[in-house]
Amino acid sequence: MASVAPPRTAPRPAAPIGPTPNPWEMALRQLNESAARLKIDPAIHQRLSTCQRELTVHFPVRMDDGTVRIFTGYRVQHSLARGPAKGGLRYASTVSLDEVRALAMWMTWKCALVGLPFGGAKGGVVCDPKQLSAGELERLTRRFATELSVLMSPDKDIPAPDIGTNAQVMAWFMDTYSMHVGHSEPGVVTGKPVSIGGSEGRAEATGRGVAYCTRWAAERLGLSLAGASVVVQGYGNVGSIAARQLHDLGCKVVAVSEVSGGIYNPAGIDQRALRLYHQEHGTIAGFPGTQAITNQELLELPCDVLVPAAVEGQITAQNAPRLRCKLIAEGANGPTTPDADEILARRGITVVPDILCNAGGVIVSYFEWVQDLQNFFWTEDEVNDRLRRLMGRAFEEVWERAETAETTLRAAALDTAIARVAEALTVRGLYP
Ligand code: NAD
Repeated sequence: MASVAPPRTAPRPAAPIGPTPNPWEMALRQLNESAARLKIDPAIHQRLSTCQRELTVHFPVRMDDGTVRIFTGYRVQHSLARGPAKGGLRYASTVSLDEVRALAMWMTWKCALVGLPFGGAKGGVVCDPKQLSAGELERLTRRFATELSVLMSPDKDIPAPDIGTNAQVMAWFMDTYSMHVGHSEPGVVTGKPVSIGGSEGRAEATGRGVAYCTRWAAERLGLSLAGASVVVQGYGNVGSIAARQLHDLGCKVVAVSEVSGGIYNPAGIDQRALRLYHQEHGTIAGFPGTQAITNQELLELPCDVLVPAAVEGQITAQNAPRLRCKLIAEGANGPTTPDADEILARRGITVVPDILCNAGGVIVSYFEWVQDLQNFFWTEDEVNDRLRRLMGRAFEEVWERAETAETTLRAAALDTAIARVAEALTVRGLYP
């Protein structure tokens, strides 16, 4: 989320893209297929199919007009087998328990894939943050943080930003927790402002990682990024930074979108000018020299690289046959359904999967947590260098496994990650 200020234009609903798949069913199907390939012990498979802890909270918030509204929020810890739970908090009217469960499971796989000592979690509040004032958002966040405090601590569960939340929301979270324990505890959340223990490079890390993966995949596919056309769905933290990074790598970003729709210019959209326009107008709509398109149309534009960086279930069996890209770099979590994956594989479209492609965010969140625990802070160059090395290692591992097993990058990534979590459960054994 770019800012906590209310929008200057009323959002129009996104165009429907076929039946919306249930993300938890998607996540379970991916797990089941991987468990079959890996021949995982059925008892371990059963444990991996279940979220370890699920907290639902209903809590009151005083609104600016003096009334009190009840909000519903969730925190799900899918697995703690490899370490404390890690995962973002989403503020959106579409948040549901099944969505949070899926996102928590994907966090478990992501952390295992890139070798972080974390389990997976996710949380969210059913609300439209753009309809709340800054004061209402702060009161909602502080009360939600209090409700979740039974689960939180730097060694138990460490939230971070996701859709609809940002560094300011994390600052309120950290402050609320710190007030409860009586001392500053920066390590309880990541994605905080640098002034209170955040990490240099965290805000850009997810988009930067998406650009790294795009570059590495393009190199292996023999696709030159100089002048390559790029389409980005979602102009938020992930999408806007990925677009800018890819623009800086020489790509031509021809289309970008937000929930209300997108903008298109086949000659390319200057990313710095667009950023200033977005800061000034609070939307990308109406950016000079572009034509308006729907999110559905955007996904089907001819391009070299498609970066879905909005929400789950955007690339489905309905639109996958019509996509006209060579490479998909998943900035969002779960943007492609399993049915669409099969169609894309048959069509020879390479997909760099979410748990690898957008792992830059949790990697630098890990660096932030380590820096907070040590009270010793790194320069942005150090952060970016370590990010590139860690992601590069995971990318190579996944690419090689996919080549050796003659499978997709998603299958290779999931198999690598799930085998690691299964191994952790096996060696820890079953308590009691
Ligand atoms: P954000 O709130 O900053 O931006 C989301 C963007 O997507 C906005 O431009 C919004 O208008 C657009 N959008 C929302 N719903 C949409 C819809 N139905 N159709 C089209 N566009 C829509 O969120 P973000 O942090 O950039 O997260 C985007 C995605 O990346 C999510 O899937 C999130 O889970 C994933 N992700 C985020 C991070 C991170 O560090 N923030 C890390 C890894 C993965």
